[in-house]
Amino acid sequence: MPGSVRVGPGEGMRPMRWQGRRQSDNIEDRRGAPARGLAIGGGAGSVILVVVLILLGVDPRALLDQAPPPGGGGGGGGGGGGGNAGAPVDPAQEEQKEFVAVVLADTEDVWNSLFSSEIGQPYREPTLQLFTGGTRSGCGFADSAVGPFYCPLDQKVYLDLGFFQELSDRFGAEGDFARAYVVAHEVGHHVQNLLGISDEISSRQRSARSEDEANRWSVRLELQADFLAGVWAHHAERSKDILEPGDLAEALRAANAIGDDTLQRQSQGYVVPDSFTHGSSDQRVKWFRLGFETGDLDRLEDTMSTPYDSL
Ligand SMILES: [Zn+2]
Repeated sequence: MPGSVRVGPGEGMRPMRWQGRRQSDNIEDRRGAPARGLAIGGGAGSVILVVVLILLGVDPRALLDQAPPPGGGGGGGGGGGGGNAGAPVDPAQEEQKEFVAVVLADTEDVWNSLFSSEIGQPYREPTLQLFTGGTRSGCGFADSAVGPFYCPLDQKVYLDLGFFQELSDRFGAEGDFARAYVVAHEVGHHVQNLLGISDEISSRQRSARSEDEANRWSVRLELQADFLAGVWAHHAERSKDILEPGDLAEALRAANAIGDDTLQRQSQGYVVPDSFTHGSSDQRVKWFRLGFETGDLDRLEDTMSTPYDSL
């Protein structure tokens, strides 16, 4: 979607205060890189790969990370944005990339502080990989169609910036804070991983007696990630005053828009509660709001202990 990532002015979009703030270094930019076989992690693997490619007469710059020069050099290094090998990166996404880096830095600040003050263990910052079209993650190959996701095995958040456009075009959730919420939710999964919650839920799912029961654990895990996104927003707001009026409504609209019932209604025209894996829109809003209003990690267990029908 070249040139179409930015949401137009007006239309209820209110900018979150983010410009000029610290950007995270933990961004891995693989936009424009091919997805299959070559999305190897950095370090020795990449070096060997480059050597092999040069021996084969291939220009490795066409295959490795393609962070374009700032500003896109008047379009020479930018433009396009498809998922093919060597496809240049859409310069219009540069601002979105900076935005994501600021939000990720915000999550680092909040979670570093909460891990040290509330949890008593160090916070290991996750990497966020930007990709286009598809990528090989530590959890296997993933297509953009799966949406943003977190892989506990390599502790990375994966995001195709095209999802932000989809969020506004398809789900009617636009605005910076709606996007920040998406990042914060994935980082919430990382927090669950560090706390050992993801492992515990996986083992409960393995011993579940039915698919329905296993699904219910998924819903609890997802709602807890929403709660953690709310906890992040609570503390980020307190320490940095990031929110403009209307931002919370944006996040809630995003939570509402990507609930399983809304997604299913859009794709099938009806709702099948038993196949929910993320929770309904109302549930997602409820748990995000609880996190945002209380900022209280002691309420983390509530998503696991509340009777399922009352979630
Ligand atoms: Zn999730």
